Amino acid sequence: MNNHESRNSNMTIKPDADGALRMPEPRPDKAPVKTNAYRYARQANTQLLPMFPYDGPGDIVSACTSIRAGGQSGKRGYFLHTNAVDEVMVSFGANGRVRTGDVVVGPKTHGVGGSGAAEFFALNVVTQRQLEEGEQLEAVAFACEACSQEIFKLSFSAFTTADHDGFFPPLPSNAGAAEAAARFNASEANRTCKACGHVSDPFPIAMWGWDKYLRATSVSEDARRALEEAIRK
Ligand SMILES: [Zn+2]
Ligand SMILES: [Zn+2]
Repeated sequence: MNNHESRNSNMTIKPDADGALRMPEPRPDKAPVKTNAYRYARQANTQLLPMFPYDGPGDIVSACTSIRAGGQSGKRGYFLHTNAVDEVMVSFGANGRVRTGDVVVGPKTHGVGGSGAAEFFALNVVTQRQLEEGEQLEAVAFACEACSQEIFKLSFSAFTTADHDGFFPPLPSNAGAAEAAARFNASEANRTCKACGHVSDPFPIAMWGWDKYLRATSVSEDARRALEEAIRK
């Protein structure tokens, strides 16, 4: 691979005669779509709600998050996220640690969440490009509240598994995070630190909306199946 040629078999970018790089036309099944982050955030049932219906190999995934936490609004929990690809976070408005207009690309393993005594809000969009081929793994880990030692970790694929028989599967990042938090919460052993013996509090899943998102996903899958059945009759 050189500077002028992408390895994407679907979307090879070659320089023009004048040396300029031009993106090819979009694929017919991947029509360009746009939305408004502020409008999208208000109807989101979860943090990190994908804004566009594309999350396959080579796709650009943008997900929207709106947060009000800390102080009167309560603790929102903290976890470590490991991503195989870079995440570009754009802040569309905030009054906390992240400033309005910030654009951030962090390390592949980064802290997510956290809140203190002061209430803050933030609305941001995280964008990543899925690998075109091969395994793309993610992980969610929880650390001991007392000594910061990692105490529980779940790794999962960033792609929907081939055996998923649904129509619009949930974003694997959200489904994986929900499963990690559910397992962490379900067992005191999973929340007990091997280094210092402290038992951490359960993770506040409801603050993130992953449970609501998965419930709504299962209803929409059932509804779509019911429609198919009604058509067959
Ligand atoms: Zn992340
Ligand atoms: Zn500890």
